[in-house]
Amino acid sequence: MAKLSIKDIAVAGKRVLVRVDFNVPLDEMGRITDDTRIRAALPTILHLREKKAKVVLASHFGRPSGKRDLRYSLAPVAARLSSLLGQEVRLLPDCIGEEVLAATLRLADGEVVLLENLRFHAQEEKNDLAFAAELAKLAEIYVNDAFGAAHRAHASVSGVTQFLKPAVAGLLMQKELDFLGGVLENPRRPFLAILGGAKVSDKIKVIEQLLTRVDSLIIGGGMANTFLKAKGYEIGKSLVESERLELAAELLDMAERAHISIYLPEDVVVADAISDDSGTIVAVADIPPDKMIVDIGPRSAEQFAKVVLAARLVLWNGPMGVFENPAFAVGTFDVAEALAGSGAVTVVGGGDSAAAVEQAGLAEKMTHISTGGGASLEFLEGKVLPGVAALTEKAGRGE
Ligand code: AMP
Repeated sequence: MAKLSIKDIAVAGKRVLVRVDFNVPLDEMGRITDDTRIRAALPTILHLREKKAKVVLASHFGRPSGKRDLRYSLAPVAARLSSLLGQEVRLLPDCIGEEVLAATLRLADGEVVLLENLRFHAQEEKNDLAFAAELAKLAEIYVNDAFGAAHRAHASVSGVTQFLKPAVAGLLMQKELDFLGGVLENPRRPFLAILGGAKVSDKIKVIEQLLTRVDSLIIGGGMANTFLKAKGYEIGKSLVESERLELAAELLDMAERAHISIYLPEDVVVADAISDDSGTIVAVADIPPDKMIVDIGPRSAEQFAKVVLAARLVLWNGPMGVFENPAFAVGTFDVAEALAGSGAVTVVGGGDSAAAVEQAGLAEKMTHISTGGGASLEFLEGKVLPGVAALTEKAGRGE
């Protein structure tokens, strides 16, 4: 399954179309509030520039619904990237067409340009092959560095590779595949997975996959409620997926048969509503019928931290409580701290856990934080991501 990467091919003097994920958040004034995604693409851009490629960057940005809408222009991104690179990155007026093609043909070695928002064309999300062929004309080599978009079969991710080969992984894509692939295929042991977040139904496939691979599993967050109820606890007004109770019980059984320890919270923080400014700590056996679970309690956090300390590989996906409310973010931050101090290989996936780790100032302490929320989950479910499938295999070079 090894895919070619930009390190495997010669790029000097070639036009290289690089699909990046520059879908960054803006404030009301149109200023970028978090440039993590731009910075994440820098290693690939710097590599290509150093190797004297002509770099043509392409990204989607927001949801302009298939029409040219300058509120979704990539202009602020071009400006930020220019300052990060210390080199002007021109924004071309569109992503396809005569003028754009002519501009790419005039590029100097080491020059970097950014195409305007791919989603100004409805054909992008439809994986329209005529549109993909237009994109393919802009370069001799295709690079996908947009792991966050790899689960979508869009023209710039999938269709374009029918017309433009080799199609290779950028350094960020490579890193994601190495870490997430390593977690699935060749994990260090003991291998612990920590799952949280709201919904069991969204993560069933991930739980099933992981149960065949991990040594232990911690379940926290809203998801734990369904498991607690399946074990017979009274969980009051807590979020629960009643139609998944049987499945939760089956998963607990499956784990027991496979000798995999599943850790659920022993104590929790309960409140009247998720917007309350404080809660009460109770044992899971004492949850009042008129309250809801909003976070794990301190004993649970302590126990989870012990399990983390014993592991050599930890995969974490999903918050332990309603962490958007600072009053109920303690358990999530405790888990982040435990990972940071564990000495294990730590792989964090999913937008919420990544945000929590950033907020806690612990991002630097993690081995790998996946840039793709949806993509990392689908990868862990064992699905083949279209953007990865489309890349040229190492053995199939030149095909
Ligand atoms: P997910 O999208 O499934 O990863 O879930 C993330 C969401 O789960 C976050 O918005 C959290 O606020 C929410 N969440 C975590 N724990 C709880 C809980 N005990 N009750 C309600 N929502 C929760």
